[in-house]
Amino acid sequence: MDKLSFIDQKDFEKPIYINDMSGYNYFPTPWREISMHEFNHSWMWCIETRQIIDKEVIGTGCMLQVYIMYFHNEALAVSRPSKWHTGDDEFGVHGIIYEDKPRYFKIGCEHDYTHCNPHMFDHRYECKKCGHKYAVDSSG
Ligand SMILES: [Zn+2]
Repeated sequence: MDKLSFIDQKDFEKPIYINDMSGYNYFPTPWREISMHEFNHSWMWCIETRQIIDKEVIGTGCMLQVYIMYFHNEALAVSRPSKWHTGDDEFGVHGIIYEDKPRYFKIGCEHDYTHCNPHMFDHRYECKKCGHKYAVDSSG
């Protein structure tokens, strides 16, 4: 089972697909806001979590508390709701009603992979823009 670890950004080695880790209260670059659909689709194809960082970021229109999940091939971020009140929800259940929805972000290179196949079952991919590499053994 994967273990989640929370660390300081200064202790985290910059992944190859990030240009700049930026300041403490900023997203690493490049980044862009994405839809929930794109977030879910990206997450499906992310390779192995490396690190999860919990931080406050500015530069998105307002201060957001986000989890940034660093994978081997890209990073994804989701904001936590920050505004709420107590009341009855649409099912009549009394509790916390969130006023803001999560926002989703993709961080890192928009990869453009080349594929080579030096041996049977050995598929190697390398991004033309950032140099990120991965290999797939298709024999199994
Ligand atoms: Zn890339």
